[in-house]
Amino acid sequence: MSPSALVLGDRFARELPEMALGWQAEPAPEPQLLVLNEPLAADLGLDVDWLRSPAGRQLLVGAEVPAGARPVAQAYAGHQFGGFVPRLGDGRALLLGELTTRDGALRDLHLKGSGRTPFARGGDGLAAVGPMLREHVISEAMAALGIPTTRSLAVVATGRGVRRETVLPGAVLARVASSHLRVGSFQYAAASGDRDLLRRLADHAIARHHPHAADAEQPYLALLDEVIAAQASLVAQWVLVGFVHGVMNTDNTTISGETIDYGPCAFLDAYDSTAVFSSIDHGGRYAYGNQPVVAEWNLARLAETLLPLIDDDEDTAVALAVASLEAFRPQYAAAWSAGMSRKLGGVDASTAADLLPLLQADRVDLTTFFRRLSGAARGAVEPVRGLFLDLAGIDAWLQRWQALGPDAELMDRANPAYIPRNHLVEEALTAATGGDLAPLHRLLAAVSRPYEERPGLERYAAPDPDARSYVTYCGT
Ligand code: AMP
Ligand code: MG
Repeated sequence: MSPSALVLGDRFARELPEMALGWQAEPAPEPQLLVLNEPLAADLGLDVDWLRSPAGRQLLVGAEVPAGARPVAQAYAGHQFGGFVPRLGDGRALLLGELTTRDGALRDLHLKGSGRTPFARGGDGLAAVGPMLREHVISEAMAALGIPTTRSLAVVATGRGVRRETVLPGAVLARVASSHLRVGSFQYAAASGDRDLLRRLADHAIARHHPHAADAEQPYLALLDEVIAAQASLVAQWVLVGFVHGVMNTDNTTISGETIDYGPCAFLDAYDSTAVFSSIDHGGRYAYGNQPVVAEWNLARLAETLLPLIDDDEDTAVALAVASLEAFRPQYAAAWSAGMSRKLGGVDASTAADLLPLLQADRVDLTTFFRRLSGAARGAVEPVRGLFLDLAGIDAWLQRWQALGPDAELMDRANPAYIPRNHLVEEALTAATGGDLAPLHRLLAAVSRPYEERPGLERYAAPDPDARSYVTYCGT
């Protein structure tokens, strides 16, 4: 494949020029491919050998783009920890353009860490190897778990140092997403006061993500309904697997329903609804158990932006939007219950009501518990009992649950053995930052087939032997 064979569309830039600022990546002195997602490249119709070549690496850092491509920094706004910022935008990212996949779908090819843009404010526009590999591992783990997410195509070390607390090796992440439209994109368009821009943005979102909304009697209300449904389902899946996003600002909430922006995120070890991993989340706004509440709040911010498109009469528009938002809680509850039922072997999800307090009280490792529970369904209860101090409590629960006849095979397909555990992620990133990529590749091998327990990978299924409280930092 030659670079000229690669076609990158500019639909976003053409349809929404007010939100697309033409820009170029900063050159990388010495681009070195750290990790390439070969299966994803193949799905996108990209030639793996070419991506590995010097020309391919130049594309992956944005230094050389195919003829006709028009890289842009996207403008968006957002509520960050509840405070509205009218102009955020891609401070260190670029949309290179849109690719058409082998099955005809449109995907954004986007770079993160590609240098300062006019949206950079005080930032340096750069990213370090560790955080970009972190996004690679965790987003690939999420994809393998079947959870909607942006994907990582590659991480390329730039050969440039990045000043953080110390000087770290720099990197660019090449990210693929069904789009980078966010609640914050709608907030930007709404705040501009340009109703035509807002309508074009909504039409663009409908065409890309929710095409049957176009046929609805009220297409913009239907768009809102579709985003509410997608986010309710997404956040239920996060909660079921113990994922904590960490920065659920409205600029990190997608219109597609994909998980985006893996910063200070983490998977729970011990079950704890108040768990917070981000060093900047002092109030616990984005705590594990608060995520559905925050998602609903973010969707209310989206609804506000759409009011002028929903009805000319504001009271009517508000009444319709409120009625749509009321669907979030039942949809979330239904998605959570369906997933919890699978985790429990097909029994009614209400059985979990008196289980979760037991997990919380004894700070039981969530992933280990559910993975061992299928063993209990087959008669091996001791490995589960061994996780609890309150034996009377868990015995009574196990007895009630077993009487319902759980299906162990269903559980093996619903409860992962391997998640990107915090201590393993740290170990892999520390080694990679020092130049040793082997632990990263071993971790990727484990988490990319999460339900398939394999000999030799025992330590990838086990909690941190010296568990300490884990904090991720937003200095990404
Ligand atoms: P995030 O927390 O990654 O979702 O980013 C929030 C906002 O800060 C976005 O507008 C980013 O583009 C911007 N940002 C984050 N880190 C940097 C950086 N190092 N340089 C410039 N902008 C940044
Ligand atoms: Mg972001």
